[in-house]
Amino acid sequence: MNVMEKLKILADAAKYDVSCVSSGVDRANTAGGIGSSASSGICHSWTADGRCISLLKILLTNKCIYDCKYCVNRCSNDNPRASFTPRQVAELTIQFYRRNYIEGLFLSSAVEKSPNYTMENLCRAIFLLRHEYKFNGYIHVKAIPGADRILVYRLGLLVDRMSVNLELPTVLGLQQLAPQKTYSALLEPMSYISNQILAFPHQSGRTKERSFVPGGQSTQFIVGATPDSDWTLINATQKLYDKFNLKRVFYSAYVPINEDKNLPALTNQPPLKREHRLYQADWLLRFYHFRAEEILDKANPFFDPDFDPKITWALRHPELFPIEINKADYRTLLRIPGIGLRTAQRIIKERRFSMLGYHNLKKMKAVLKRAQYFITCQGRYYGDVPPEPQYIRQALLTPNSQMSIWGG
Ligand code: SF4
Repeated sequence: MNVMEKLKILADAAKYDVSCVSSGVDRANTAGGIGSSASSGICHSWTADGRCISLLKILLTNKCIYDCKYCVNRCSNDNPRASFTPRQVAELTIQFYRRNYIEGLFLSSAVEKSPNYTMENLCRAIFLLRHEYKFNGYIHVKAIPGADRILVYRLGLLVDRMSVNLELPTVLGLQQLAPQKTYSALLEPMSYISNQILAFPHQSGRTKERSFVPGGQSTQFIVGATPDSDWTLINATQKLYDKFNLKRVFYSAYVPINEDKNLPALTNQPPLKREHRLYQADWLLRFYHFRAEEILDKANPFFDPDFDPKITWALRHPELFPIEINKADYRTLLRIPGIGLRTAQRIIKERRFSMLGYHNLKKMKAVLKRAQYFITCQGRYYGDVPPEPQYIRQALLTPNSQMSIWGG
């Protein structure tokens, strides 16, 4: 099989892994080297300077010894199989880079022969890229649970980001859908990578010397392959951020591919709305100082499909609203629907000079169609319905009927 035939198979087999967004690594090219790494946006996202950067996203191999029920590459599926050699991975990356197709590599893999065999091949490919081909671009590699720590360590010194995909948030889910995996085996490399990142002194991404996984580690959950609730998923996410200091948790709506009594029917649509709500909630955890238990709980285990998690939280806490924007501290401002990070920062900065009015918020790009129901400016409430959850809910759902609710 030639390299292009392998590429067709192994690029297609990689498409279900969404954990490939880069961040946090800025590294310039070095003398005699090739490529550089930008701090944000891999896989067709945008850098701060407006560039779209992309990764070559492939599997090293799709020959898997495991039989995870949800996976297209499971050993019981009758798929075309292929494996790159480490040199083929390195050469493909360089050739794509030279043609300007990509600026980095996302390399994942099935488990061929054994975790150590696969991990050694991953290490060889990346070693060739970094040392023989002098490639300085962004590299994200998926670590293989069960491989020796020394291999994880060697790889961690070469790449920008590593991920260990948990895929399912509960032990029961794992037992049913990936019986050859255990939670402890998945968490072990995650814990090791986290400890090594902390053990290495912080370095600027622009130094010549590499640190260990400078872009941090990430993981991925599949959404909707098991009956696990949004609460279970967001709770597991919180624990991962707390315990392993993960950079990102990604969510992938389950796409029915295989038939199995423990899987949703093949006719089911991927739960894209749930995936979207999970990303919104994840954003609240990472940047808005929310905790998972504030967003959902056992009594409310699923997201409201009609409202984003911040509005849902605000509607459940009418006792805290409306909030006076001239008095609230930064963290309280962040809790107001329609007020984002930048707007909250601008409010804090500009109210030092004068009291802010409603017109000021417009200029600061607050989303007033939402914020109006949750704030006062100099004591005045500007919402066009009374500040009570039942009215606000109705007004947000049917914005054109607002005046009739206020006026009776
Ligand atoms: S180990 Fe990975 S590639 Fe192999 S069947 Fe499981 S999820 Fe798929």
